[in-house]
Amino acid sequence: MTDPVAALREIHSRIDIAAKAANRDPASITLVAVSKTYGEDLILPVIESGQRIFGENRVQEAKTKWPPIQDRVPGLKLHLIGPMQSNKVKDAVELFDAIHTVDRPKIAEAIAAEIKKLGRSPELFVQVNTGEEPQKAGIPPQMTAAFVNVCRNKLELPITGLMCIPPIDEEAALHFGLLAKLAAESDLTGLSMGMSDDFETAIALGATHIRVGSAIFGART
Ligand SMILES: *Cc1c(COP(=O)(O)O)cnc(C)c1O
Repeated sequence: MTDPVAALREIHSRIDIAAKAANRDPASITLVAVSKTYGEDLILPVIESGQRIFGENRVQEAKTKWPPIQDRVPGLKLHLIGPMQSNKVKDAVELFDAIHTVDRPKIAEAIAAEIKKLGRSPELFVQVNTGEEPQKAGIPPQMTAAFVNVCRNKLELPITGLMCIPPIDEEAALHFGLLAKLAAESDLTGLSMGMSDDFETAIALGATHIRVGSAIFGART
């Protein structure tokens, strides 16, 4: 049985070490604790130990799980890290403080419309399909700059960064390096990259947001 509080402490010390090795301020790295599939029994102790930023990959799961917790604990921030259907965009813009998965024109348009309607804007990352995998969401690398321009200029979306999920069987560093290069080309400072198995590599390559689930909460069943 994992102790998520001890695991979280361990992750923080690994973040500190990786940041120092890269001459970076650990405070410039946001840890998103990915709580998808886990229940309150594991999440509440992690909140009590100070974690405030959580990641979920499904709008529906987040919508049933988090509002009761948010009623009790002020200051929690929720990040959407999974792909979204168009009919979930309204719920997502209402519930989330950041959306890491702006991954196609249709979704960008729907987010822009909801932001105008609701007068509330989450922080937004464009998901890039750095491995150009057919089954994976995201904008192809060579189209990223043009897509970011459309989001900014036509849709007036405040895009702050890029996000990627490297192919499982490839060297993650190559994909993190590519994402950093694409972000620099578009003058974006946010880099959402790195998970339980590779967040230290991501920090070395400039990650500003790491998304760590199983290394904190234990294996998902
Ligand atoms: C589940 C998930 C994570 C966390 O993965 P772990 O390997 O459990 O750390 C990070 N990013 C995305 C997009 C995910 O879906």
